[in-house]
Amino acid sequence: MNQIASIGENLERVKERIHRSIHLAGREGDQVKLIVVTKGHPMEIVEAAIEAGVEDLGENYVEESMPKIGMYPSSDSLRWHMIGHIQSRKAKTVSQKFDWVHTIDSIKLARRLSRFAGEFDRQIPFLLECNTSGEDTKFGWTAWNELEWKELAEEISPLLEMENIIPRGLMTMAPFFDQPESARLYFRRLRKLRDYFSEKFPQHEWGELSMGMSGDYEIAIQEGATMVRIGTAILGERQIREG
Ligand SMILES: *Cc1c(COP(=O)(O)O)cnc(C)c1O
Repeated sequence: MNQIASIGENLERVKERIHRSIHLAGREGDQVKLIVVTKGHPMEIVEAAIEAGVEDLGENYVEESMPKIGMYPSSDSLRWHMIGHIQSRKAKTVSQKFDWVHTIDSIKLARRLSRFAGEFDRQIPFLLECNTSGEDTKFGWTAWNELEWKELAEEISPLLEMENIIPRGLMTMAPFFDQPESARLYFRRLRKLRDYFSEKFPQHEWGELSMGMSGDYEIAIQEGATMVRIGTAILGERQIREG
């Protein structure tokens, strides 16, 4: 079957697995938001995903995402999530076009996003991207060593007070493993850090945990994910390597 024709079926299969994982984890009644990652895919695939009923789409690269968001702008039934590393000079576009930002990894970026969001009269929910593994290919706040969480809390505290960006939780990427079970540790670590921040900053909402991709989302859900970011398992192999 061709790539577009399989999207509906893949989507149903992934949703079923999401429900099964929620059940396995004893999280009955919890919602897990499925974000379908369209980076590296052409417009026809974005269109097919939307036609199949997807309401949350994720993109990594600002340039690549602009034509897609231009064609399918945010609405009551469509939200765009920025899930890639954001260069400072792209902050303005991100604050104008995206509904959620999963990847705030510096105070400087946060300030710029907040300032531009203000100019567009928007308030943007965001997640702190955390590096839970220590892999130096990963972006995000240094979060792999629990002994350093106190300093981390101090470091991030200024961005909790910014006017036009609203903290909602944490995001991480586990290292790649052949065995998804090996990713569990990193997801558990993110949840623990979230619990720590909730205690430390109870005036803010820390409910969202964005973790889990095609290879490891079932484990992430068992560890408390509220948002999973899935590309390949639904849309097939990416055609464009980098945006
Ligand atoms: C590409 C990407 C995904 C989706 O990856 P798949 O393995 O295709 O599901 C999820 N999260 C981030 C941050 C990504 O860059």
